Amino acid sequence: MIDIKNVSKWYGNFQVLTDCSTSVKKGDVVVVCGPSGSGKSTLIKTVNGLEPFQKGEITVDGISVGDPKTNLSKLRARIGMVFQNFELFPHLTIRQNLTLGQIKVLGRSEEEATAKGLKYLERVGLLSQQDKFPGQLSGGQQQRVAIARALSMDPIAMLFDEPTSALDPEMINEVLDVMVGLAQEGMTMMVVTHEMGFARRVANHIIFMDKGIIVENCTKDEFFGTTRSDRARDFLAKII
Ligand code: ATP
Ligand code: MG
Repeated sequence: MIDIKNVSKWYGNFQVLTDCSTSVKKGDVVVVCGPSGSGKSTLIKTVNGLEPFQKGEITVDGISVGDPKTNLSKLRARIGMVFQNFELFPHLTIRQNLTLGQIKVLGRSEEEATAKGLKYLERVGLLSQQDKFPGQLSGGQQQRVAIARALSMDPIAMLFDEPTSALDPEMINEVLDVMVGLAQEGMTMMVVTHEMGFARRVANHIIFMDKGIIVENCTKDEFFGTTRSDRARDFLAKII
């Protein structure tokens, strides 16, 4: 489903990704972790073309992300992305947040978009909040709306970049629970997170990055069991 082959990226002279390769099969949940500045956000943003790269190849569902002929907006519409800071439109109601992309990007009618949006809003337990504005919801609620909004686009895969790191501790689980549900239903997911409880519950693969390099790329059992690199072991010791 997602194939990342020998990807390298530079900002000027600074190499932010070095020869990164991994593949994510349909239904896989891949957790990406590693120290601050190791290139986690950059790596997952290359997958939907939000970050260009200079070397290597990425394909999503057979479509080459780096090919200049690829219609990136069309590709992005099929890949859901959830960020740390929710990124809801503050001046639109929750319902309008859920329908805007469906109408503008997918050309759905307002009725169809509303039906779909509310279906996912109900799923994340927030149907009663549809007429509110984002600022009237808690951080955890806003993040659940952001997930519902991404799902409303019928994505073939979901990318998450530290979706719970801006949340107060008591709100983290309500968001993780939604993500665990998605994983269990077979959604293909790449998740940058340091929530190792989440990783233990649903990850198939864990990628550990350091200084732009994928240092570990292994199964959950290998990662938590016999973590091989010293760097990954030190990192785990700090966060668990
Ligand atoms: P964090 O855990 O803090 O989110 P990260 O692993 O997601 O870190 P990235 O945001 O991918 O790391 O950044 C990787 C490196 O690239 C960092 O050293 C960062 O300073 C650098 N970087 C990111 N964006 C740019 C940019 N636009 N121009 C130059 N350097 C950048
Ligand atoms: Mg980051």
